[in-house]
Amino acid sequence: MRAAVFTGPGAPLSIQDIDKPKIAEDEILVRVSHCGICGTDIHASREGPFMAPPNTVFGHEFSGEVVEVGNALTEGLFSVGDRVTSLPFIKDQTIGLGEVTGAYAEFVKVDPASVVRIPSELDDLNGALVEPLAIGLHSVKMAEGVAEKQILIIGAGPIGLACAIWCRFFGARNVVISEMSPARIEMAKTLGFNDIVDPSGDVQAQFANITAGEPEIQFECVGAPGILRECIERAPNRGLIMGIGLCDHPDTIMPLVAFTKELRLQWALAYDKEDWDFTMQMMIDGRIDGSPMITNVVSLDELPDVFEALRSPTDQCKVIIDLRR
Ligand SMILES: [Zn+2]
Repeated sequence: MRAAVFTGPGAPLSIQDIDKPKIAEDEILVRVSHCGICGTDIHASREGPFMAPPNTVFGHEFSGEVVEVGNALTEGLFSVGDRVTSLPFIKDQTIGLGEVTGAYAEFVKVDPASVVRIPSELDDLNGALVEPLAIGLHSVKMAEGVAEKQILIIGAGPIGLACAIWCRFFGARNVVISEMSPARIEMAKTLGFNDIVDPSGDVQAQFANITAGEPEIQFECVGAPGILRECIERAPNRGLIMGIGLCDHPDTIMPLVAFTKELRLQWALAYDKEDWDFTMQMMIDGRIDGSPMITNVVSLDELPDVFEALRSPTDQCKVIIDLRR
């Protein structure tokens, strides 16, 4: 099968013919229809502690069609032809980050315990958005109550926007987004978030101007050193800071400032199946819509160049690979 292979840091992804995954008797093979490019994939292709091993095929935000069902799966839970997406977990391993071949490829094997069927109301393109939206849902649930709260989202990438969507869904009083890229600000506005602050200025003052209050909960969705320290400085007493952005470098904070304000710091990782089911249901019911985030749909052949371009700031938000092109 054709796949985009990560050969090592500094080299673009390479389109290669690799072996189609062989499924065990309790696994399912999916022909990939669409797969999102995730910031995590780009991160994992860089030198550093989070780097994936060479020969990794990335891709954990996918939709597709069941083409083979393992012999042991006789209950008829899934059949050939079903349209599905799946949490990227198979028997304690992760799909698309080095352990199991991901969906920057024609086929991907999945675990029936992780598979979520895509109903006819949702197309494959939106099926590939369940993953990033479920990240946002899980993060917001981990904040344990955003209703009536004043929220500051730091970074309007797909995950920051997904957090913003769910904060609004669950009744936040305000959802203010800190972002300086004009393209990302436009995207936030397209999704209905018009309260934007400029991180190069005094965020606390801008936030107070908009909300007449303080950021009771901050979602740090950038993952760069220095941002946590800023969050701690601008947090009100007993404020909550959510660590969502992936930072794999040492970072410095001043504990005394957090201590005197009795702040809470909470990280959130991934999601569980409940989050996927709920996300899917809300998408079908039209109560959340992530589709404006999709700025580009590209072919597998276009992927290596697009992937390289995404390393530096671009106007793109969510880029999705159409494996059927
Ligand atoms: Zn992702």
